[in-house]
Amino acid sequence: PPLYKQRYQFVIDLVKKYKPKKVVDLGCADCTLLWKLKFQTCIEVLAGVDINRAVITDKMYRLSPLPCEYLQPSERPLTIKLYQGSVAEKDPCTLGFDLASCIELIEHLETPVLEKFSEMVFGYMTPAIVIISTPNAEFNRLLPGLNGFRHKDHKFEWTKEEFQNWAQDVCSSYNYTVEFTGVGKGPPGTEDVGFCTQCGVFTRSYPSEGSLTADSCRDTEHSYKPIYNVVY
Ligand code: SAM
Repeated sequence: PPLYKQRYQFVIDLVKKYKPKKVVDLGCADCTLLWKLKFQTCIEVLAGVDINRAVITDKMYRLSPLPCEYLQPSERPLTIKLYQGSVAEKDPCTLGFDLASCIELIEHLETPVLEKFSEMVFGYMTPAIVIISTPNAEFNRLLPGLNGFRHKDHKFEWTKEEFQNWAQDVCSSYNYTVEFTGVGKGPPGTEDVGFCTQCGVFTRSYPSEGSLTADSCRDTEHSYKPIYNVVY
């Protein structure tokens, strides 16, 4: 399957493993991953955030219940919410999630924005699991005809070491641990290059503080704009 589908499957497999009830996709773009996650029956709240409103609204109506879902409502509650907002900004609507996915997002962030992203995800949202994927720059030499970055909007593409150093720093600052893997293998003999897409699966090292206090919600102003909300 194409690489983007392998990345979505990577998230789906982790959802199957950890069975989170509340999942948020940061940089959800056209909601393809959310649409796939909707069929994971452990999930009761599914949210998407992207800075680009047009890219979200383009296909978001496929998240609406299907006629058969109206006729035969499932036992589990399911709410899907979409927001326009930046991952550099805190918003109380990002609190209380068990798992956050950030697929091919960080390489689009300028250094100061990336720092705010780390603080917002690992210091403010504090989900039990965070999944981050980003291109592995070392793999680029296996991609014929590529010169420069894989996409013109990329602010950087990291080697395995660069990504792992960044991830370890995040873990020591915010009390998480991380395991590295990836998706997309090169041809035999190129194993040292690593995966085409490198992934870090971060796990919070401390227990959840339980239900959110009203205070922590009141502390931050809303900066995200709700653009879609459907209750199954
Ligand atoms: N996660 C999707 C996927 O894997 O198909 C989309 C990846 S796309 C390469 C990167 C997305 O991140 C874009 O939709 C872009 O609008 C979004 N993005 C970039 N900067 C952002 C920011 N500061 N806050 C939220 N989303 C952002």
